[in-house]
Amino acid sequence: MVASRSARERKAAVEAGPLARVTIDVDRTKAFVYKISCTTCTAKADKPWSAYRPGGDNGYLAAMDRWTFHLVEKHPDADAPCLTYLPDAQHRLQVRRDSGG
Ligand SMILES: [Zn+2]
Repeated sequence: MVASRSARERKAAVEAGPLARVTIDVDRTKAFVYKISCTTCTAKADKPWSAYRPGGDNGYLAAMDRWTFHLVEKHPDADAPCLTYLPDAQHRLQVRRDSGG
């Protein structure tokens, strides 16, 4: 039994830490789409900064990796459980770059 969307949202929100707002949409193929927005940063046109990644567990990892890098870059004093996985996130980024040419 797959965990419910709200349970996944809560788990992701805990991982992402207090600066993040996590929402999960469901796309047309019924796959989860993770969206992590920053509660303090605004990007262009006053939209909140956010990482938006479709695709189940891979999408979760990709969105959380982007969020982790955002924290490191913009909020170096922030504390969040996902920062524990920064080395993993950096490794995944490297692998993606290597495989993407
Ligand atoms: Zn931010």
